[in-house]
Amino acid sequence: MKLIFEKGNEGRGLQLLPDLDVPEVEIAEGMKRSKKPALAKVSETEISRHYTELANRSYGVNNGFYPLGSCTMKYNPKVNDLAAGLKGLTDIHPLQSEETTQGSLAVIKELSDALCEINGMDAFTLQPAAGAHGEFTGLLLIKAYLHEKGETGRTKIIVPDSAHGTNPASASMCGFEVINVPSGSDGCVDTQALREAVGDDTAGLMLTNPNTVGLFDKNIKEITDIIHDAGGLCYYDGANLNAIMGICRPGDMGFDVIHVNLHKTFSTPHGGGGPGSGPVGCKEFLAPFLPGHVVEEKDSMYSLVRPSRSVGDVKVFHGNFLVAVRALSYILTLGKDGIKKTSQAAVLNANYMRVMLKDTFDMAYDETCMHEFVMDLSRMKEETGCSALDFAKGLLDYGIHPPTMYFPLIVHEALMAEPTETETRETLDEAVRIFSELAKKAKENPESLHAAPQGTPIGRPDEVAAARNPIVRFMAD
Ligand SMILES: *Cc1c(COP(=O)(O)O)cnc(C)c1O
Repeated sequence: MKLIFEKGNEGRGLQLLPDLDVPEVEIAEGMKRSKKPALAKVSETEISRHYTELANRSYGVNNGFYPLGSCTMKYNPKVNDLAAGLKGLTDIHPLQSEETTQGSLAVIKELSDALCEINGMDAFTLQPAAGAHGEFTGLLLIKAYLHEKGETGRTKIIVPDSAHGTNPASASMCGFEVINVPSGSDGCVDTQALREAVGDDTAGLMLTNPNTVGLFDKNIKEITDIIHDAGGLCYYDGANLNAIMGICRPGDMGFDVIHVNLHKTFSTPHGGGGPGSGPVGCKEFLAPFLPGHVVEEKDSMYSLVRPSRSVGDVKVFHGNFLVAVRALSYILTLGKDGIKKTSQAAVLNANYMRVMLKDTFDMAYDETCMHEFVMDLSRMKEETGCSALDFAKGLLDYGIHPPTMYFPLIVHEALMAEPTETETRETLDEAVRIFSELAKKAKENPESLHAAPQGTPIGRPDEVAAARNPIVRFMAD
């Protein structure tokens, strides 16, 4: 496919600027361009076709099954987009006076309250723009709290090896030293190793639960007790809340801080680079440190209040506000029962697929999973020469987006599948059939999988070159 700069011809293009209706000013020499800007020279028809062609080459939940583990590529009801498009919510400015923005302040307050209730927390900020940004913000709260208590020697954050990759990165960015603890053979945190890892230098623990192998840690209360007894705080990575919302609450498990991804769990489409939102919730004693402003209600009026010992701002104003609108709309349309049923269906769908596939594939952990499960294709690779990568590429020819590959790192030849609650039984059955057919293909005709995909615009890109030497813009001569 041609780039937009390679299409069209001289003299074509949209006349975007109106005729000059102010006095003309001569631009100083030295401030002028040395050559004309490299703008696309295309007609409206050509632009329209260009973007349609691009759209046809991309893949999303509207195209088909997308079981990308840990990412929750579920269908997001259009009614929530409708709410986020309401003029009263889009045509406002954060610097307007509070009397004129009561409705949007109510959105912030109601969503914060709902997230508190769902997570068992006392306060929330909507400022962080994504999950990793939320992690960083949550760790700032922990750091500010410890420093105020004079506990500056607590410099280490413990991160189990089944955590999401952003956890150690965020801890490190926040200036903490990362201490890894291993998982046991059951996929849960090795509590003995955890006991040995804690000490006077422990600032806290970051836990992804359910963890990246799709298991709910059965020792969750023991884990948070170990950290608290050592004087540290507990951080819950709730990016993906699809297995637990409406069923149990991180706050009740002993966690002090949490982030949730509105763009995974609460109905904002994602995968295309944003905008997202990673609100951070905390217990009462950490609330004074929250960034930005929180909304308080007094005498039926909403107002913005700066927390007394705020860590500052992590984003301008109130975060990606329209993502919050979608989330509130999603929560209110589902209601208390609907939220619980959503989680139950996510867990049921994952277990349905897991059980249907377990005679054909080795499961990394053969037990009831949460919203996702991990297959281990090591044996298939040994017996047939087809790796998890070959298998994933094979799925592309069947119109299925592959599961997450080679993650978590603690499982070799891992494929991590998250079917989500919005898929039907028929879709899951069809996926099971295709997965099984590919397993047969791996045995009978491994070459065909090495050569896959055949039907996609791009076959097998050189991934190392793409990562090391990315070409991400058009180079005009
Ligand atoms: C996606 C994810 C993150 C990171 O969220 P971003 O919005 O991509 O920064 C963190 N933790 C877990 C468990 C996740 O699934």
